[in-house]
Amino acid sequence: MSLNTQIFIAAVIGVVFGLVLSLNPETAFFSSSLYILSLISSIFIGLLKMLLIPLIFTSIVVGVSNLQASGQFNRVWKITALCCFTTTTFALILGIGCAHLFSVGQGMDIGIFADAMQNHQTPDTLTPSSFLTNFIQNTLINPFKAFAEGNVLAVVVFALLLGAALIKGGDRFQSVRVLSVQLFDIMMMLVGWVMKLAPLGILALLAKLIATEDLKVLGSLAEFALVVTGTTIFHGAVVLPLLLWIFGKMNPITFFKGTRLALITAFATSSSSATMPLSMKCAQENLKVRPQTAGFVIPLGTQLNMDGTALYEAAAALFVANLIGMDLSLTQQLIVCLTAMIASLGAPGIPSAGMVTMIMVLQSVGLPAEAIAILLPIDRILDTVRTVVNVQGDMMISVVVDRYAKQAEPQSTELS
Ligand code: ASP
Repeated sequence: MSLNTQIFIAAVIGVVFGLVLSLNPETAFFSSSLYILSLISSIFIGLLKMLLIPLIFTSIVVGVSNLQASGQFNRVWKITALCCFTTTTFALILGIGCAHLFSVGQGMDIGIFADAMQNHQTPDTLTPSSFLTNFIQNTLINPFKAFAEGNVLAVVVFALLLGAALIKGGDRFQSVRVLSVQLFDIMMMLVGWVMKLAPLGILALLAKLIATEDLKVLGSLAEFALVVTGTTIFHGAVVLPLLLWIFGKMNPITFFKGTRLALITAFATSSSSATMPLSMKCAQENLKVRPQTAGFVIPLGTQLNMDGTALYEAAAALFVANLIGMDLSLTQQLIVCLTAMIASLGAPGIPSAGMVTMIMVLQSVGLPAEAIAILLPIDRILDTVRTVVNVQGDMMISVVVDRYAKQAEPQSTELS
């Protein structure tokens, strides 16, 4: 049985088992099952996280040095940035547009949320400038500290510099280059081993999610949840595939078949970082993205490209504005979009990270930060779909970038 079939069957079993458990809460069967499910899911996520930092580091070092060696680095990073900007802009337009179209939050009684908002601790003010200062302070740090703390962004920056230096140094650093390539290959081999555990891990994660999530809280926010989820799915099922087809010249069905494993893992873990090793494997092996492109675009995209998060934050800001009866002017809506873009760049790929950076979006136009207390109870559910779209965007961009990089190859070889 292929891995894809195993994962599909595991996901179905996970959902059904989760439903069975949720019908029998407070029984010995429930608690012992939950214990075993937690154990299995921690092993699966733990293994993925264990590989994350060494994989990001080696793949960027190798990717950058290979791209530079072939004279492609400049082109690749520019196309990557352009793709990230374009897809995120589409996501923001969709988020704002659909929130308007369905007038989310309008006519709802804010009183029913008063308790939640009152008991919520108001976080420190997060303005774009303080966000930027934090961003720099957390990024330019001792690399060993970054490795130990799992600070993805700091590792990315250090790896980019190291990759560039390896090329600049030429033959002198040949042995370090070879070592990096070999370390990267070893990491990918380990990812292959962890992939074998994916069906079991996904089964456990989905069953646990369904058994423990209180779906009743969705009730009062059902309309908002439906609009946001529907719009995010539209972005992932229509907008991104269309862009992939036009610019990547790839059939979306081939794409979805090749990326199923990463997408389901993203859904089950709500973490693009934990999913990254699998996204890389899917992009290289199933979508045939060359290792130097995937090794550069996927880790960078995991940290910086989050369409689902940007869409969610923009729509949620409008929802809160409608809820408290505040009319946002066009300029304020543009500020929301801009801040949501920055917020999605800075959000780490972990569950509910978007909720934290959303404070900045709300505060940018004077909306109360306490309002996130309203959204927190349903966030774990909404996070599943937006993480899928975040991960999908990274793999899609790697296909597009690789295509344009390949096109330029004969020319650059001639030049060199
Ligand atoms: N969970 C998302 C991710 O890992 C980030 C978010 O909370 O929006 O991509």
